[in-house]
Amino acid sequence: MDNIVFPTLAELNAHGISNAQAQEMEDLHTYGQKTTVRPTVAHMEHILYKPFLVLNHGFLRVIDYMGNQAAVVQAARVSYGHGTTKLRSDIGLLRYMLSHQHGTPFEMCEIKIHVKMPIFVARQWIRHRTANVNEYSARYSILDREFYIPAPEHMAAQSNENRQGRGSVLTPNQAIVIRDLLLEDAQRNYDHYEAMLGESEENPDGNDNVDRLINDSDDFPGLAKELARMNLTLNTYTQWYWKCDLRNFLNFLALRADAHAQYEIRVYADILLNQVLKGWLPDVYTAFMDYNVNAVTFSAPMMHIMRDVIIAKCLMEELHLFITPSRYPTLLITERECAAMVKSIRGTTT
Ligand SMILES: Cc1cc2nc3c(=O)[nH]c(=O)nc-3n(C[C@H](O)[C@H](O)[C@H](O)COP(=O)(O)OP(=O)(O)OC[C@H]3O[C@@H](n4cnc5c(N)ncnc54)[C@H](O)[C@@H]3O)c2cc1C
Repeated sequence: MDNIVFPTLAELNAHGISNAQAQEMEDLHTYGQKTTVRPTVAHMEHILYKPFLVLNHGFLRVIDYMGNQAAVVQAARVSYGHGTTKLRSDIGLLRYMLSHQHGTPFEMCEIKIHVKMPIFVARQWIRHRTANVNEYSARYSILDREFYIPAPEHMAAQSNENRQGRGSVLTPNQAIVIRDLLLEDAQRNYDHYEAMLGESEENPDGNDNVDRLINDSDDFPGLAKELARMNLTLNTYTQWYWKCDLRNFLNFLALRADAHAQYEIRVYADILLNQVLKGWLPDVYTAFMDYNVNAVTFSAPMMHIMRDVIIAKCLMEELHLFITPSRYPTLLITERECAAMVKSIRGTTT
């Protein structure tokens, strides 16, 4: 975990972080060595306040954390001293609790992060109700002219297999056309947002109504920010502070670092999993990878088929011919479940 490369000032600027904001983050990070009797984790102290850059203008950074993995053990045992996790039995306890959904000891650790993400990502993120959130107020402040535009390799067609997902990547020319449309629409809406706020002196697209607002002889007072914002496109960036206990943080990661989650939220979850959790609580991370991320659950019908597969010594490459709904009409198993089962046994995600 020592190989984290923090972004340079130029990279921060390119992401929309000003010199003053970068300096504030740096100042907080280097603000002397504070002493505390509370448990600290070297990795978290190392990354505290530092931004991990995500997408074209987004970032996330850890603002605070409470507890180490000994805190989980300590709570589980309701111990008078501090927990240890140095002992094999402590790691065994962590793994047992995680694998048996004994969740409350994991609520003893907390994490607070500052995230900047497109509004459509925030809409998915906010569904995790067990966190505490405070969002940048677009009733009070003007949002920045920053839009998420997918990189060409992420511009893909609607998936044929998964109604919620994406399929094949668009051709480079198609990706350029889409990029231009997204950018044009976002810019145009933002131009009108500024005009409605009474903040415009220019009229880039020559719109007559914008002209009227700029040249209003009755002295246009500007529309309230809380109304003008409704004109912004969903790829506009918003920001929030987000605090969550470890139990619900793991639930968030299980759902959002998963291959089924949309790429644009998954990139944030991947950083939280691999750059934050792994260094903060290494044995919890390993247990979580073993019992959740890399674990597979088979339903009762699937186990029925699995026994047949083993008895028949079915070859890997023939699994999809063997595992079909038509072979098992009484099991209520779907085409999709059969395909998922084949993928799980083969150890592939696609
Ligand atoms: C791949 C994917 C696709 C999705 N597609 C859609 C979609 O099409 N439409 C849509 O609306 N949403 C969709 N969602 C959102 C999803 O349904 C959840 O709302 C979201 O993932 C939050 O999960 P959660 O409820 O476990 O998290 P949290 O709200 O953080 O809750 C954590 C846990 O607390 C418990 N809990 C919280 N609130 C309650 C409660 N009121 N009652 C009982 N237990 C509670 C539950 O055990 C829950 O798992 C999707 C999510 C994913 C990952």
